[in-house]
Amino acid sequence: MQDTLVRAIGAYVNIRCMAAVTTHLVEEARRRHDTYPTATVALGRALTGGILLGGLLMGDERVNLQINGRGPLRSIVVDADAYGHVRGFVRHPHTQMPLREGKISVKEAIGAGTLQVLKIQTNQKEPYRGIVPLVSGEIAKDLTAYLVNSEQVPSAVALGVYIEKDTRVAASGGFIVQALPGAQDREIAIVEENIAALPPCSEMILNGLGPRDIIARVMEGITIKFLEEKEISFQCRCSKDRVIRIMIALGPEEIRDILVKEGEAKASCEFCKQNYVVTGDELKQLLEEIEAMPESPEP
Ligand SMILES: [Zn+2]
Repeated sequence: MQDTLVRAIGAYVNIRCMAAVTTHLVEEARRRHDTYPTATVALGRALTGGILLGGLLMGDERVNLQINGRGPLRSIVVDADAYGHVRGFVRHPHTQMPLREGKISVKEAIGAGTLQVLKIQTNQKEPYRGIVPLVSGEIAKDLTAYLVNSEQVPSAVALGVYIEKDTRVAASGGFIVQALPGAQDREIAIVEENIAALPPCSEMILNGLGPRDIIARVMEGITIKFLEEKEISFQCRCSKDRVIRIMIALGPEEIRDILVKEGEAKASCEFCKQNYVVTGDELKQLLEEIEAMPESPEP
């Protein structure tokens, strides 16, 4: 089964809703980063949040979420685009906290801190940057606070990750609902009541509900129009080409130094843990290419 994101809007009211099932992509993140359950839940919620915010973007726009806290997890970084691709990592993947009333406490793992949202939008020269103090540390409420306070859009966000006893991800997903200008108080109240009565997202997904079913539950009592359903996945932007470009930027001195000391260059991508090796022969060829380049004139 493929992870999907679904977008919908009220047919006659200005309320939009998106829901995503992210079980497979969060499991992939767990495997790549070898996260322990507390870190898996934290990263999974952040990845899902990234996918949902990415769903509000267009074209080549990107969104970057950064959570920095004083807790043992330290930080979570997530990067998503409008095409349903997301990548991310936690600073300390082996973070594991004791259960609180049988539940994983992401709040304790993150601690007091901030949530920063960076949006790279095509029609803006500078990226949009919003930073808010963490209000709960459980991520969904923090994203809600960001959307309400920084973007000034009345919103509700729910995120959930359910972990099996063997630490695999059994269910993950979430939804976002937003009241756009013109939405009536009566309809907002209906949605608020629906959300209050909902079981946790992870439970709905564990019971087999898909994004459309979740949207139907959130928007119950309101006629909705489904706009789009798309496949979503964990996908990184790294490549060997990028590693080579970084090597070139280091300059010939540094490359010669690596060649003498290490014989080859190794790099690991922070976002996806992919390892890259630039062999000695490739480094030598790179040096030849750099030396063959015409020297830039003195400024
Ligand atoms: Zn990568």
